[in-house]
Amino acid sequence: MDNNLPIVPISLPLPFPSPESVNAYLIEDDPLTLVDPGMKSSRSLAILERALADRGIDFQSIKRVLLTHGHVDHFGAAGELQRRSGAEILIHEEDLSKITLSGEPANEIYLHNTGIPPGLMNNFSQIDQMMNRYSEPIEEITTFDGNISLEFEHFYLQSLHLPGHSSGHTVFYWPEKELLLSGDIVLPSITTNPLAEPVNTPAGVKRSLSLSQMLDSLQQLASMEINLVFPGHGPRIENPPELINSRIAFYQQRLEEIYALLKSTGPQDPYQLAQAFFKGRLQGLDIILAVNEILVNLDLLVHQGRAYEEQIDGVSLFGAC
Ligand SMILES: [Zn+2]
Repeated sequence: MDNNLPIVPISLPLPFPSPESVNAYLIEDDPLTLVDPGMKSSRSLAILERALADRGIDFQSIKRVLLTHGHVDHFGAAGELQRRSGAEILIHEEDLSKITLSGEPANEIYLHNTGIPPGLMNNFSQIDQMMNRYSEPIEEITTFDGNISLEFEHFYLQSLHLPGHSSGHTVFYWPEKELLLSGDIVLPSITTNPLAEPVNTPAGVKRSLSLSQMLDSLQQLASMEINLVFPGHGPRIENPPELINSRIAFYQQRLEEIYALLKSTGPQDPYQLAQAFFKGRLQGLDIILAVNEILVNLDLLVHQGRAYEEQIDGVSLFGAC
């Protein structure tokens, strides 16, 4: 363990059972930088303020905020921080729309035809409410595209666009130290959800192939020299190659399990398949996550030519080829 690293993890509370905390990382070099400042809640902000004060830093001294992706548990406090410090906020351009709070119910666009009963669609409004409650609009945002070098006085971090969990998901890599700030692409105790997102294409709005992106992103990480990971949730990862490879194996196995289920059930919609796969144990927001998980696997199976999708009465049915 290298205690001389200028990177300080700060664990911040989240208002849900899992994950129960998110990690902000203070980078103590010039410009003073914070990666993922957590949610905007009075409790989280107080803990962040105290952790900074312990190091002789106040909010006003933060010059730059780097966001790994546009999920509220990671970026919610960014607007408040900018208001207090004038810090520059950077995010990959593909996640810009997620943090500008346009009020677009993004989830509905890709899950409305999955067979979820209309009554259960109310769970979406819970997500929107949470977005609004735990974040605030950001005045000025700098976006970047692809991979850029983030300069500090004594070193630089390389940003790497690794989509899958989110289309603009970005990690920050310190080549000299073989160290990675991984956001949510790889987490120590939970398997990250690849999330389907609407993408505008010349042929109309389509779903992103997020599981395929996730696997590509993990393969890229597996090919890099990484000996320490600071993840978005949970403790540091001391043996990254082992964990990265086990996550790749998990997604591949799950894909085969869902393919086997599809072959045994015949054509079904993603909601029915989620009920069958998770054996009816689903409640509340879990339903959305479960249907999403089934859907991203089905999309990859279709992409691989092993399954097909057809629309019947506005609902997508999937069958094995
Ligand atoms: Zn996330």
